[in-house]
Amino acid sequence: MPMTLAEARNRLARANRMIANEGVLDAFGHVTMRHPTDPTRYLMSVSRAPELVMPDDIHEFTLDSQIVKPIEERLYGERVIHGEIYRARPEVNAVCHHHAASILPFCISGMELKPVYHLGATMGGKVPFWDSRDDFGDTTLIVAKPEEGASLARALGANWMVLMRRHGATVAGLTLEELTFRTIYTARNAAMQIQAHSLGNVSPLTATETELAGEYNLRPSPVSRAFEYWSARLDKAEGNWKPAKAAKKPTAKKPVGKKGAKKRRR
Ligand SMILES: [Zn+2]
Repeated sequence: MPMTLAEARNRLARANRMIANEGVLDAFGHVTMRHPTDPTRYLMSVSRAPELVMPDDIHEFTLDSQIVKPIEERLYGERVIHGEIYRARPEVNAVCHHHAASILPFCISGMELKPVYHLGATMGGKVPFWDSRDDFGDTTLIVAKPEEGASLARALGANWMVLMRRHGATVAGLTLEELTFRTIYTARNAAMQIQAHSLGNVSPLTATETELAGEYNLRPSPVSRAFEYWSARLDKAEGNWKPAKAAKKPTAKKPVGKKGAKKRRR
């Protein structure tokens, strides 16, 4: 059953606050998701720091990044980053744009961001660079015009993360939970890559290791485990945490009887 709009607004508001609570988002940046039942719309907060986003702040936008029901509150200036990626990538259901301190040295120096540990493999085999000067010359660096968003979406291509020169990064995911996982662990990977360089030689994952580790870590089990962890950390930070029982293993298969077990041992 698809998620209701109310559930989606609640989960998206929490994802904004969770990624902020983990230090990736600060006063700026935003997390969005595609509308749960209408793929021609996406959900986004009004303009405020992600750490403060509540479900009532979340509104519906068309893929042209126009709000469906106009409101008085101020909207984010960089909506087109999201709208143009949802338009270009039908399989993408969540997007995060941020300026994490660990990512910026790569955006400034042009050094390639590479997976240097297993969880960083979720960035994928390639993280392209987008330089706004290539298409638009000198700008404010804010991606506010539809053609700027479309240019960024082209640079992202079929990848999962794009670095924006002198600005930050934009990350995509098949689900909001996958996006949260990729956003947090790629920012940590960036910090570790820099730290490892200060010690000496950096040996990143091979292309095959990146593919294998990326797939392994993006299975439902690790993604939901991490999402529950960051969710509990958010509740603790907001003073709302209560201990809860661990989720049970899904029981998809029938238990094997003694007879069947005997047969298989032969
Ligand atoms: Zn930005």
